[in-house]
Amino acid sequence: MEIDAEDAKKTILDYCLRKGALAAGVADLAALERIAPPGHRPSDLMPKIKSVISLGVGGQTQGAWSVPAKAMGYFGSTETRAYTIAYGAAFLIESRYQTPAIYCPPDMDNEKGPRVPLQSLKLHAEVAGIGARSLAGDILLHPEFGYMYFASIFTELELPPDQPMETNPCPAPSCVAMYRQIGRTPCQKFCPVQCLSGSIDEDGKQAEMHYDMAACAEMSQQYEAVPAMLSEAMAAEDAQGREDALFDPDNKMLWYKMSVGSGGLLAQCFECMRVCPIATKAPLADPIRRSIAKEGV
Ligand code: SF4
Ligand code: SF4
Repeated sequence: MEIDAEDAKKTILDYCLRKGALAAGVADLAALERIAPPGHRPSDLMPKIKSVISLGVGGQTQGAWSVPAKAMGYFGSTETRAYTIAYGAAFLIESRYQTPAIYCPPDMDNEKGPRVPLQSLKLHAEVAGIGARSLAGDILLHPEFGYMYFASIFTELELPPDQPMETNPCPAPSCVAMYRQIGRTPCQKFCPVQCLSGSIDEDGKQAEMHYDMAACAEMSQQYEAVPAMLSEAMAAEDAQGREDALFDPDNKMLWYKMSVGSGGLLAQCFECMRVCPIATKAPLADPIRRSIAKEGV
């Protein structure tokens, strides 16, 4: 079967956008193979891979940024929409181009534990040019779409790659101004567990970024809190100790979140993004802004 690579790329990326992605691109496979550590290169998952396609969907609605933290803790993320589009694109590639394709699992490497993913979807998106690393724990930001959730498709179909973004929207001018005054950017200042730090150089560009992943995870990814609580209950010396461990009001909230399948067990606490001018005010960051832009008003 004769395949025009440019045409195929357009068909696949158009499919992703039509299904709800805000941005999509093809990452340079050679760059990914060079940057990703052994065991986490695309070819470690799909030996005959020729292309990595990355797509991003929008985050929460504009209204979400105004709710209190205790409500935001239940919002979870919108990433499952991205995964659905990636699944569909893999099926499209196989049915239209008769070439193997997979939805890249966003999940953890079961040989490395719950903090090491099989693949870095963030690296795929960055190299595909649909996001740039921010001072907020390397979260990717886009100058038009702000804060997105990403998914990737791997395929043996060779597609022409895109380039990483030439400019990084982070830090925004207002963040640089705040940094000059108090030595911190909004995300660094308002993170409730102070897990973000770093510096901005004289040109107003990122110089250094530090992210305490363990502190962030303890705050926002509570799945590891459940075994910790069970272990505390098992180690209790008496019935009262067990009851305290299992029915402490904070711990009971974990049972609640599990029973309703709340995305808040796995999400961020979102406070760094709530104060980020790119995440909240980029021209197409939320449905209201996108709708206004569409109407041209
Ligand atoms: S998600 Fe919450 S804890 Fe993690 S970096 Fe952002 S503000 Fe800090
Ligand atoms: S608030 Fe947003 S734009 Fe500003 S420094 Fe933090 S991540 Fe970058």
